[in-house]
Amino acid sequence: MVTLHKPVADGFDVERVRCDFPILARPVRGKPLVYLDSAATTQRPRQVVEAMARFFDQENANVHRGVHFLSEKATASYEGARERVRRFLNARESREIVFVRGTTEAINLVAFTFGKQRVGAGDEVLVSAMEHHSNIVPWQMLCEEKGAKLVVAPIDDRGVLLLDELERRIGPRTRLVAVSHVSNALGTVNPVKRVVELAHARGVPVLVDGAQGAPHVPADVQDLGCDFYAFSGHKIYGPTGIGVLYGRAEHLEAMPPWQGGGDMILSVAFEKTIYNQIPYKFEAGTPNMAGAVGLGAALDWLEALPREAAWRHEDEVLAYGTEQLGRIPGLRILGTAPGKAAVLSFVMDDIHPHDIGTVLDREGIAIRTGHHCAQPLMARLGVPATARASLGIYNTTAEIDALAAGLEKVRRMFA
Ligand code: PLP
Repeated sequence: MVTLHKPVADGFDVERVRCDFPILARPVRGKPLVYLDSAATTQRPRQVVEAMARFFDQENANVHRGVHFLSEKATASYEGARERVRRFLNARESREIVFVRGTTEAINLVAFTFGKQRVGAGDEVLVSAMEHHSNIVPWQMLCEEKGAKLVVAPIDDRGVLLLDELERRIGPRTRLVAVSHVSNALGTVNPVKRVVELAHARGVPVLVDGAQGAPHVPADVQDLGCDFYAFSGHKIYGPTGIGVLYGRAEHLEAMPPWQGGGDMILSVAFEKTIYNQIPYKFEAGTPNMAGAVGLGAALDWLEALPREAAWRHEDEVLAYGTEQLGRIPGLRILGTAPGKAAVLSFVMDDIHPHDIGTVLDREGIAIRTGHHCAQPLMARLGVPATARASLGIYNTTAEIDALAAGLEKVRRMFA
């Protein structure tokens, strides 16, 4: 089999990392798999799969309710995962960590509890022009319900958020700023710490959509100073169906519950129900216990790597990709913000991105094509869709070479 592994950054052994991902060794359409779709979902290392199998084989029982041995074991693992996430985000307390299904659910939770409480007729919610639909539509739904207004902070042609314009839009009616840490469609790393300073100076809380931030840049919620931070397990080498909402304790305490059911209550009578303490108040029903355990294992795995070197590796593969793709005639990269992360979005002359993706697929290369759940951003950039190669910690410069060769093939085919 052709080896596609070439270590890049000093102190980071990408070949060893790849060995933890059996799927990366499988052929696709008779070629070595080149997986460049990690912004959609990453692959999971075997340590995550093993931790979940161990949970099912050795500990499986419902959490929080049982007095029996297995229930205590399962509860300890589930709560251990919460503490693991707390350390990852550097949150003050583990009760600030709410397990949800993913980023989408986390943002909806905030919109329909915190948002419902705080946003009224004539108020405003401020987002940026590069948001994923998950960080637009819940706010739109809330604004429609309340007669409030969704306000948009613009970006420049490189995909850089215009901070002055954002600041100008934080007015007396702004009730929340909701902004992505890293853009899934462009790779722009937003200066969220500065956004938080600007918003907090006017008493406005900030939610950070960290779906692409947590896997690629430091996500220290105390350093960022944000009020809420959301991310998904499946985009950070963990399982699907599990995600995290971090919320400052004082906000979570003040927010009403979202869904009702078991586990989120202290006592129920037909006359009155008393809700559980945080974070359980927001975790109605049997949670995704194995998913939480898998996410904890993913963070253990990730943080056991030399993280600085791993980030450098990703940056170097990205820089190499930018250079190689830049050499292909007719190819234009969208998203050229300085310091961007992990994403190469591009168009090629008038070749439809779908055709690009289909030809690459025949070469065993997995990329994503379309609007990337960011249709307003596509409209801003004047394209209906892009082709997007997105990186994970396991990608190599040799895989970029394979991508570039595949794109040359595309160009020749459609010339
Ligand atoms: N926000 C961003 C920036 C994303 O990239 C995504 C997924 O692609 C989401 C939110 C939604 O994440 P999920 O589908 O895991 O809820």
